[in-house]
Amino acid sequence: MNLHEYQAKELLKKYNVPVQEGIPCNTPTEAEEAYRQIHTQYDSKFAVVKAQIHAGGRGKGKIAGTEQRGVAVGKNAEDIKTIAQNILGGTLVTIQTGPAGKLVNKVLVAQDVYFEGPSPVKEFYLSILLDRTKGQNVIMYSTEGGMNIEDVAHDTPEKIFKEWIHPGGLLQAFQARKIAFNLGLSGEAFKNCTKFVTNLYNAFTGLDCSMLEINPLFKASDDKIIAVDCKMNLDENSLMRHADLIT
Ligand code: ADP
Ligand code: MG
Repeated sequence: MNLHEYQAKELLKKYNVPVQEGIPCNTPTEAEEAYRQIHTQYDSKFAVVKAQIHAGGRGKGKIAGTEQRGVAVGKNAEDIKTIAQNILGGTLVTIQTGPAGKLVNKVLVAQDVYFEGPSPVKEFYLSILLDRTKGQNVIMYSTEGGMNIEDVAHDTPEKIFKEWIHPGGLLQAFQARKIAFNLGLSGEAFKNCTKFVTNLYNAFTGLDCSMLEINPLFKASDDKIIAVDCKMNLDENSLMRHADLIT
């Protein structure tokens, strides 16, 4: 079962994985209200409207017949309302939906985490899945985040790292440190990244995920590590154990 970004982020929070916070909205008026809440609660000047569909590539995709992108930054409440109006009820066409696109019934109004600060922001890629050939979970990660990972794998395969986990075991502390190191992090960002990866791996196993992808995995200018986007696939066989998740 595939979850929407807003559902996946709610689950990650239960495992203390920091996420770009947001409020799911069904109408432009709700989106406007959500902006005010986000603006106050997270001291976020801007906000981002994100179409909730079961496909990626939303940032580059467009609502059919318009120039509206599926992920768009708004500067104030009015802006957010207009963007939500343009997206809701529209058909979003992305590289992953095919030409027919997908109808958007919900948007996530999310905090802006790309604010300027003491250190530059960075976008990484990280995913966890079962490597069937080895019968081991593997964490795949790259410094080249925010873009199509298939392109990175094709053009610069040396920029994709892999870390295999001992079957039935936990992610070891040295493995979490290796990942943070290979992503080029240091200081607070390094510590935050090892915690992030450890908690994310616990979420993967605890929720019986068959796939968990964070792209971008984000380093904010205050060195926090945050899941800006999340694609989560739950193992169909384990749904019985997680009936509470299906709302
Ligand atoms: P998708 O993968 O479906 O395109 P993402 O959630 O990954 O959707 O968002 C696409 C891109 O939008 C991100 O890679 C990022 O560059 C940009 N983005 C997301 N949130 C913000 C934000 N708060 N401020 C600026 N850009 C953002
Ligand atoms: Mg993404």
